[in-house]
Formats: sequence, structure tokens, C-alpha cells
Amino acid sequence: MKILEKLKNQKRLNYEDALALYELDLFTLGHFANLKRTSMWGKKVYFNINRHINPTNICKDICKFCAFSANRKNPNPYRYTKDEVLHIVEEAFKRGIKEIHVVSAHNEEHDLYWYIDVFKTIKARFPTIHIKALTAAEVHFLSTLHDLNYEETIEKMIEAGVDSMPGGGAEIFDEKVREYVCKGKVKSNEWLEIHELWHKKGKFSNATMLFGHVEEKEHRIDHMLRLRDVQDRTGGFNAFIPLVYQRDNNYLKVDNFLGSQDILKTIAISRLILDNIPHIKAYWATTTLGLAMVAQEFGADDLDGTIEKEAIQSAGGAKSANGQALQDFLDVIITSGFVPVERDSLYNELKVYEESACGVCQ
Ligand code: SF4
Repeated sequence: MKILEKLKNQKRLNYEDALALYELDLFTLGHFANLKRTSMWGKKVYFNINRHINPTNICKDICKFCAFSANRKNPNPYRYTKDEVLHIVEEAFKRGIKEIHVVSAHNEEHDLYWYIDVFKTIKARFPTIHIKALTAAEVHFLSTLHDLNYEETIEKMIEAGVDSMPGGGAEIFDEKVREYVCKGKVKSNEWLEIHELWHKKGKFSNATMLFGHVEEKEHRIDHMLRLRDVQDRTGGFNAFIPLVYQRDNNYLKVDNFLGSQDILKTIAISRLILDNIPHIKAYWATTTLGLAMVAQEFGADDLDGTIEKEAIQSAGGAKSANGQALQDFLDVIITSGFVPVERDSLYNELKVYEESACGVCQ
């Protein structure tokens, strides 16, 4: 079989190859994805100690899959003040948080200058905290709001102390599906352009893909290949994050939900197609921690972080509202036969945990 030969010889995979991967049985696919993962990262499972902050859920957009924004199904609008955000950061910093991950809805009352003020103040008070903030969808929204071009917005973000960009807002790049699930949001080519501009400033970012809703496997492959093209030019993506669609409290009609096998297949395929993106993240908030650990044997090498508070996926039904305790993370990684590695936001290794860190073994 041609695809098996290509996998054995570690050749770059094209669109047709990627479709053929979906026809392989899960364990054959997992075998090759795991070989690739192990050749890159051995038995290491990366995570960081981070805090998600979502300053507002009041949004001008109406993405069908979204359960986070305040609307008829989520009638609890909120908007943090600058002081409230600073208080969250201060408390998190005392607990040893190293990264804040700030993403939000599109709300004119939280304009670009509000964020810039918040970021500058955070950097002045907590210079060691890594600020990962503003998705490409937010960059597009804020640029449009202020009649700035993307580069001007990006330069203001960098000046304010934003260290890296999260990968959100990518959803699915196929224009037809995108029009259906999130009409009005940043377009695919704009999302890719913003990340490419960010990378050209010497900065890193991540890239997500929302799957398991109305898209087909062809759309997932197309999505990954568009990311691979940008990465060939810039090298600026640290991680690819396939996000499993959460089914509650939204307006997207989905007939068939993905099971664990399809989720694992997509993670494994992403490891094999995205040969130029270093890390594949099994984002435990959308897969459950258990499946995210299994995914570590199917190509993933990262679990994301402890998160502390999570509002976006949990609004859609995920059991992630209160994050994960560090010890629970360590226990599950070690008892699964892997080595937990705390990393910073740019994947520098901060601490490799030995077996004694496991509560079971102590
Ligand atoms: S996904 Fe983001 S942009 Fe879309 S409705 Fe939800 S908060 Fe708004």
C-alpha cells in the first residue's frame, strides 16, 4: 500500500495521502504517529502552569457553535474591569502561575486600548509572567474597530508586552463550512495572514482546529495543509491544537458526534501531516484528561496546562471549569508511563518530574 510505504520512509504526505490515512485502522495509524512523536519527544508529556482569563462574554458575533458568548442560551453577560483582571493575575502569580492566557468575546467596550492598558500594567507589575493573548479573530475585530491594519495592531500588542498569540479563532478554514458555522468572524485567509505577520515579527503562536461538528475529514485535512504551508514559510507555530466540538448550549445542529476513535485518528493524522509543527496538543478541556492521555500514544505530546478556570469549553459542556490540580496532572502522566515536563509558554523545559512526584508512589 502506497501510504504505508510513505509512512515507513517518512515522506511528506500530500492531500491524497492524508485521506488515505483515514482509511487505515486506528492502531496502524497510531503506531506511525507514535513513532514520529517518540522520535521527537521520547516519553515526555509537556504541560504548563497557566491561568485562563476571559475578560468578557459579550460578543457582537454569533458563531453557531459557541456556548460562551452571552445570548439566549447563556444569559449571564459579564465584563471584567481592569482591576478585576489585575486581581486575578495577582492571585495567580502568588500561586506560581507563569502564563496568563487571555482570550475574549468581541465587545466594543473592551477595545484595543483597554487591552493595551491592561497588558502594560500586568507587565509592569509582573514582568516574568508570559502574556499569551488575543486570538487572530480578536486581532481582526480590534483592527476593524479602530480602522487599523493588522500590522499596526500587532505592533501595539508587542509594545504592550504580549509575548505570544493563542491559536483560537481558526475553527475550520474551508470557506463554505466557515460561512455556515461562524459567518462574520475573521476569514480563513485573514486568520492565516495575521499569524504570518506575527511570526514575521519574530514571535510564536499556536494554531487550533475545531472539529467534530458539521465538517468532513476533507475539511480537516485542508485545514492542516493550509497551516503547514504557512509554517513552511515562517516556522512560527509552536503547537497544533485540535479542539473537539462541545455539543451543549449552542445553535449548531449536529447529527453525528465523534467517538474516541475518530478523535484519536484526527490527532494521529495531525502528527503525521504537520511534519513541521513541533508539538501536537491534546487539549484535555475538550477531550477529557483520560482521552488526552491516551492521545499521548497517538501522536500528541502536550496536554496544555492546569488552566485553573475555564469558561469557553465548559460553557459547551466540558468538565473543565475548575482546571486541573498539578498533582492530578502528574499522577495521571506518570501512571500512564510517561514523563511529565513542565514547560514555559515557548516550550523551554522548566522541570522534568521524577517518579517520586507521583502521589501514588510516595
Ligand atoms: S466564538 Fe468567539 S467570536 Fe464567536 S460568538 Fe463566541 S465569543 Fe463571539
